[in-house]
Amino acid sequence: MLAVDHEGGLNLCHRFTGSDMETYGTVDGGIEKQKLARFIEDRADRTDKGCSTCRIRNICAGGCYHESYAHFSDPMKPTYHYCDLMRDWVDFGIGVYGELIAGAPAFFRITSCLGGHSANETLETPEPESRPRRHCG
Ligand code: SF4
Repeated sequence: MLAVDHEGGLNLCHRFTGSDMETYGTVDGGIEKQKLARFIEDRADRTDKGCSTCRIRNICAGGCYHESYAHFSDPMKPTYHYCDLMRDWVDFGIGVYGELIAGAPAFFRITSCLGGHSANETLETPEPESRPRRHCG
């Protein structure tokens, strides 16, 4: 997802708008797809980086581009300064998922079929099994 700045430039995200970081096209000219693809591929390259052995590398992928840019002036550098936080956060999410799938598996069946209904509606429903099943193919 790209973010548009006040001059119509396409930035990696809203945090890059107004920065000195290069843009990846314009609203009028479109996305510079090859340039953007090269950035993403280079950033994903784990050669000689600590990420190559990290257990959450396929989720974190080196962290936030702008965090790297702001902290190291280099959007290519992994965000090593909060790796422990990221691992704790992923562990927490996986733990919650495990508890939900073991204790309330219907939660995932219902939320995947909700369509336009809100998540709150599902959470406030005391007995999800009593709701009519929607088949979402
Ligand atoms: S947590 Fe750190 S080492 Fe692991 S993928 Fe993210 S930036 Fe790389």
